Amino acid sequence: MEFTESGKKVIAWHAEPLEVVYRKLQSLPDGLSEEQVAERLREFGRNTLPTKEPPTLLQVFLHQFASPLIYILLIAGIVALLMQDYKDAVFIFAVILLNAVIGTIQEWRAEQSAHALQVLLKIKARVRRNGRILTVPAEEVVPGDILLVESGDKVAADLRLIQVNNLRIDESFLTGESLAVEKTVEPLPADSPVSDRRNMAYAGSTVMSGRGIGIVVATGPYTEVGKIAKTISEEAGAKPPLVIRMEKFSRQIAIVVLGFTAILGMIQFARGEALSDVFILVVAMAVSAIPEGLPVAMTVALSLATNRMARRNVIVRKLTAVESLGSCTLIASDKTGTLTVNQQTVKQILLPEGTLIEISGQGYNDEGEVRLAGDAEMTPEIQGRLLTIARESVLCNEATLEKEDGKWQHTGDAMDVALLALGYKLGIDPPNLRRQVRILDEAPFESEKRYAAVVYENAGEPRLVVKGAVETVLQFCSRMMTAQGEVPLEREKVLQLAQHKAESGFRVLALAAGEGNLEALKGGDAGLTLLGLLGFIDPLRPEVKEAVQNAQMAGIKVVMITGDHPATALAIARELGIAQSPADVITGKELAEIGSPEIPEFFEGIKHKTVFARVTPDQKLQIVDALIRLGEFVAVTGDGVNDAPALKKANIGVAMGSGTDIAKDTASMIVTDDNFASIVAGVEEGRFAYANVRKVTLLLISTGFAELVLLALAILMEFPVPLIAVQILWLNLVTNGIQDVALAFEGGEEGVMRQPPRNPSEGIFNRKMIEQLMISGLTMALVCLGVWVFLMREGYTLDSARNLLLALLVLMQFYHVLNCRSEVESAFKIPFSRNRVLAVGMLVALALHILATEVPFLQSLLRTESLPVQTWLILFALASVVLVVMEIYKAIQKRRALI
Ligand code: ADP
Ligand code: MG
Repeated sequence: MEFTESGKKVIAWHAEPLEVVYRKLQSLPDGLSEEQVAERLREFGRNTLPTKEPPTLLQVFLHQFASPLIYILLIAGIVALLMQDYKDAVFIFAVILLNAVIGTIQEWRAEQSAHALQVLLKIKARVRRNGRILTVPAEEVVPGDILLVESGDKVAADLRLIQVNNLRIDESFLTGESLAVEKTVEPLPADSPVSDRRNMAYAGSTVMSGRGIGIVVATGPYTEVGKIAKTISEEAGAKPPLVIRMEKFSRQIAIVVLGFTAILGMIQFARGEALSDVFILVVAMAVSAIPEGLPVAMTVALSLATNRMARRNVIVRKLTAVESLGSCTLIASDKTGTLTVNQQTVKQILLPEGTLIEISGQGYNDEGEVRLAGDAEMTPEIQGRLLTIARESVLCNEATLEKEDGKWQHTGDAMDVALLALGYKLGIDPPNLRRQVRILDEAPFESEKRYAAVVYENAGEPRLVVKGAVETVLQFCSRMMTAQGEVPLEREKVLQLAQHKAESGFRVLALAAGEGNLEALKGGDAGLTLLGLLGFIDPLRPEVKEAVQNAQMAGIKVVMITGDHPATALAIARELGIAQSPADVITGKELAEIGSPEIPEFFEGIKHKTVFARVTPDQKLQIVDALIRLGEFVAVTGDGVNDAPALKKANIGVAMGSGTDIAKDTASMIVTDDNFASIVAGVEEGRFAYANVRKVTLLLISTGFAELVLLALAILMEFPVPLIAVQILWLNLVTNGIQDVALAFEGGEEGVMRQPPRNPSEGIFNRKMIEQLMISGLTMALVCLGVWVFLMREGYTLDSARNLLLALLVLMQFYHVLNCRSEVESAFKIPFSRNRVLAVGMLVALALHILATEVPFLQSLLRTESLPVQTWLILFALASVVLVVMEIYKAIQKRRALI
């Protein structure tokens, strides 16, 4: 059977007439049946390209050993072995192993959750099967399927096109041709190269405009991309820049520390210490001061943040978004669907002479009454005109709305669905009407054109119907339909009527018709007759008003960029607290009149505006660019094909879940429920994440710093070394390691959304961080040094003195974790319910150290000894100094902030 071979044998699909294509693929214009699909799915497999194998657990584990710290430790372990210092060697190797296991678990989990997020990003495809249009996962498309594509879609499989309407496709990734290709359906010479096959559409290309229908000729690995790309690598898994910066920072510190410790080592050597001891000491100091755990803890904090964001409907595509969200100073939002629910309902019809008709009902169904405003009697003449309006708007329409098994099902553009509902309310059966009429030509709606048009056969003549934005449609009209029949168009009066409606928050569409074809629309006036204006209501999303307030409280400016009428936009912006008066609004036309977007007037023009109405996608890009140059850190939402450049330009590109594939492809994050409130939630989570990264950094760096200062001062003051290598390893990699990762689980602090955005160019080590680091680090170091000097003077043995000092340091870390939970709030004000993992982590770390002093094996390893309860209590009290000092520091900071 020829079909069986279709995927494997090369058939020149572009050269065959359509009948042959259908026959060879055993398909029909109505599409395949469910059974056929199931069978072909089995035969050809899923429509996916082989992806790069994710790393195995073993690979992740081995990866843990590729770090400078581990190299140092390995060398130390080997040296210990050579010195026949077996206990130390075993311990060092155990620590290396433990470190690798913890690292593996964390990396594996992060990998898994990144994978789970990827699954949510899978693309969908619209297919016709059994005569019905369905949306299915693109993976389930099979050869022979009839696939429908429209502007913004990513083509899901290789297609032989059977119907095109102004279809233009960007195939640059395949052919290198940067201009979008205009598509046709006619057969082409068999030897045409891929780039000339204008009747084909290829998997992975993007539809730039128009609509098309094609029959699937190849899926998955059999497609043209499948043949060239053996594997596609998923973008996720790339390291977030913050982590990369931290790794770099760790490496820099490592170099400084190694130099520093080498000097101390030489001093020790000069004082007659054994070379092996000196070596182990140098290693231990290096371990204490190199913030190795930082990248790991940061990865944990960021991956926890992406999970939390996903739960709040924000999917992060580029991990940069997590940290940059915290710096966002301005959110530029779409109106329709983001601030509103995009549930359009036609509430009013205005006939050109001003007669107002009201329509009741809500949502997409046939329930609702149509009556004249002011309870006037409906006349047959008005009834007739309404029927014409309903009829034309059903024909100039790309949506579907049908009752199936008692439930209303709809597909397509919300405005169009609303017009179908209007049709039902006026007693028309839209599917039936469409079957009776022969469509000759169509110009589908594209948001920068602001209209849609259709030409159908009416009593042997072509009839042209246009619907769209009032100003746009009126350009095509010279007459209008009134009770007296067709009269010359009173343009100003109609614009006034529309303006009036828009001011009360209606979205207004004009509908016009006449004889002619699409060519007529090219030259402006097409001699059409205005039939009426339709007023749509699209309710606001209830949670948005509060979200706007929250954003504003957090120092984030909210602006609206929309293709809609300025009056409609202002009415909605006012209700949400985005704008107050017409002075806050600027239109695309006014922007164009300013001239070049490079001149200062342009920047002045947009600086204080919060509503940008009737703007084109080009202007959206100009606005975003100018806002960024004005110093804002901008998050921009978008859904359409032409939003991609603005999404790319923005500091944070936000695509809508319902948006086009191309928008999602360029955005750095996706809001799955389209909701503005989710963007604000994302900002909040982004700030939490950044705060956690700072907390973890503070904990790690300050304890390392404290240990280094302690060791250095003790050596310089010619005291014995206060801690031995294994003890420092224990301190850093075991007790502190546990607490550090646990701290990454810290929940968000309430005050976060009442602070201004963080300066994006400011690093983690700002003044505040350095202050905290110095104060807490020096406190710990000096207290320990004092205790060390005291113990030496009192004549304690080295082993028991070290045992006491080690316990003291463990307890200090215990308190210091509490300090690090907030940079501003008192540790006593933070409930433990905010981070139960931390509570457990702290207790585990403490319990481990008590074990270390009690279990004989650990005792001999760490040179520890059992301590009486009294001593524990004294040490506990002594260690609390670090808590007290930091509490005082926070209190002073708070007082200062108040002044
Ligand atoms: P928004 O920024 O609110 O999403 P759009 O770009 O979707 O605006 O729409 C811009 C204008 O195009 C609308 O104000 C309306 O006049 C017109 N319009 C919107 N949808 C349709 C449609 N399906 N058919 C015809 N015209 C439309
Ligand atoms: Mg829109």
